[in-house]
Amino acid sequence: VNFDIVELSMVLKEIMPIVSNEALLHGIVVQFDPDASLPRVVADREMLKQVFLNICKNGIEAMSEGGVLTVSGKIERVNGFVRWINIDIHDTGPGIPPGIIDKIFDPFVTTKQNGTGLGLSVCQRIIHEMGGVIRVSTKGIGTIFTVSIPCSIEER
Ligand code: ADP
Ligand code: MG
Repeated sequence: VNFDIVELSMVLKEIMPIVSNEALLHGIVVQFDPDASLPRVVADREMLKQVFLNICKNGIEAMSEGGVLTVSGKIERVNGFVRWINIDIHDTGPGIPPGIIDKIFDPFVTTKQNGTGLGLSVCQRIIHEMGGVIRVSTKGIGTIFTVSIPCSIEER
């Protein structure tokens, strides 16, 4: 693990060309909407890129009929501290079947013909290693993956 001082909006901006290209090929619109004032975190930049790319790629793969992929970032405060940076990756695909939603972070769980089922398990390992959390929600339209990266900044 290489620790860098990471500007999350920059990390997201760096993967956007790859994501947009892939999306364009599948008739998917990408909305990129990070809070400009996201604080910096100490993390491994390349590993974070891998996480966000994997989740975006899953979203694109879920929208074979086209749709919208929205990437946004917000801070979450706890008791006057900026405690988490939450990156949401939302797709308007079919959602995740209830039968597998509890297993998608397990290795080798895939519903794809040529899937490895390793993407999300690797993402979860990376995020847990940095004290973060990765969650999935299928409330509403499609699927939202939320990656929460810890930070603690006291606000005055
Ligand atoms: P793979 O992409 O190789 O199948 P992943 O670990 O990345 O492996 O994903 C595991 C499974 O979780 C996928 O096969 C798919 O069934 C489900 N999944 C992941 N992301 C989404 C999504 N955005 N929408 C619907 N299903 C998803
Ligand atoms: Mg995948």
